[in-house]
Amino acid sequence: MASDPRDYKLDLSNASAGAPSPGASPQARPYLSVLFACCNVYQRIYRSPDGNTYQGRCPRCAKTVRFAVGEGGTSARTFIAS
Ligand SMILES: [Zn+2]
Repeated sequence: MASDPRDYKLDLSNASAGAPSPGASPQARPYLSVLFACCNVYQRIYRSPDGNTYQGRCPRCAKTVRFAVGEGGTSARTFIAS
């Protein structure tokens, strides 16, 4: 039953540290997971500023894909770009 006193000290210093948040919330943007069949890799693509499309690019061959956001579409969050 050996306890390291440094663990307690670490907990205290972490609790008193404030996280810097100047007001922006960058993680609020919705995204889709897309499988690029050309290179068999997954990539997140984020919604465009106008909110009508999702646009992304294959991280390996730079092929671009675009998904339209529309009524009656799928609610799936994962797509395959072929
Ligand atoms: Zn590719």
